[in-house]
Amino acid sequence: MPRIDADLKLDFKDVLLRPKRSSLKSRAEVDLERTFTFRNSKQTYSGIPIIVANMDTVGTFEMAVVMSQHSMFTAIHKHYTLDDWKLFAANHPECLQHVAVSSGSGKNDLEKMSNILEAVPQVKFICLDVANGYSEHFVEFVKLVRSRFPEHTIMAGNVVTGEMVEELILSGADIIKVGVGPGSVCTTRTKTGVGYPQLSAVIECADSAHGLKGHIISVRCPEQAELVRYSWMDLDRSMASAYDGGCTCPGDVAKAFGAGADFVMLGGMFSGHTECAGEVIERNGQKLKLFYGMSSETAMKKHSGGVAEYRASEGKTVEVPYKGDVKNTVLDILGGLRSTCTYVGAAKLKELSRRATFIRVTQQHNTVFS
Ligand code: 5GP
Repeated sequence: MPRIDADLKLDFKDVLLRPKRSSLKSRAEVDLERTFTFRNSKQTYSGIPIIVANMDTVGTFEMAVVMSQHSMFTAIHKHYTLDDWKLFAANHPECLQHVAVSSGSGKNDLEKMSNILEAVPQVKFICLDVANGYSEHFVEFVKLVRSRFPEHTIMAGNVVTGEMVEELILSGADIIKVGVGPGSVCTTRTKTGVGYPQLSAVIECADSAHGLKGHIISVRCPEQAELVRYSWMDLDRSMASAYDGGCTCPGDVAKAFGAGADFVMLGGMFSGHTECAGEVIERNGQKLKLFYGMSSETAMKKHSGGVAEYRASEGKTVEVPYKGDVKNTVLDILGGLRSTCTYVGAAKLKELSRRATFIRVTQQHNTVFS
């Protein structure tokens, strides 16, 4: 008989952080850097734990150059060639500590990743990314990668429940990517009916990971899902109002850290910038850039020659407003995060989850001018 789990599960949009008395004088006093020592690789890393998603629009070398200047991280998408990597490594050696090589669980992916890691040994992070981190095949794949790369820090996902976080950590992963179905250009929930409210997923998965001295990444920014909810087909009719008014939501990044995420990975929030792949498109006097899910028809046509008959596309293609240089967005996110810390009295990002009390709400913000 099918079971119904009636426990309350919440999303970021259902909560706000409660302000608390604080002795901090200014947000400039807040330290956003964290230092982690990873459970399986035994490596130590310091930086601001925000990661650009390994999507081919945003997870670019150009993005990594800017991110590393801010001590932030980029999961480089898996479609660069070995030669592209060699060139990047030669021109930007200072960035290599803040990037990961990405791979799916296919044999070709693994060979390609191995060649890159051999050619660019300064890169110490691996991002193993599959849509469904629950498959036995993926668990075996994580074990294989761990055995081949004992000293690399492995990010692996995606999952949303504690038992699978534990299984992946015990199989050799260091940092678990948490999130199924919530991404801004993800259609998994509508195509499959599968998913988990992200705030609860982060709270539960962080608890499981930290119990084993592992770490987690929260994937996505939920408000962004609203901003880019119009599909490619709908754009001409609905774009103007949908995209007006800032495409960042640092508050949600803060909530993810407050819920216990060690890292937060963002795709949509970093889309539409100069450093993203693709040309600026001009339409009706507006400048736009293309952004799409890695399981969208656009991505599959580009990289695999089309959508295979046995599968559905689980990603959207959208045009987002061109937002200029990503540095401005970075400063906006970091400024918001520092401010959150002062509101709850956390002198360091590390303290945010200890200081966080979420209150349940029915409305996030005043929408009069939205
Ligand atoms: P965002 O920050 O845009 O809300 O979410 C980014 C995350 O969405 C990525 O890190 C990745 O986990 C997920 N994602 C990217 N492309 C797709 C896709 O085509 N389908 C699905 N289901 N998820 C995607």
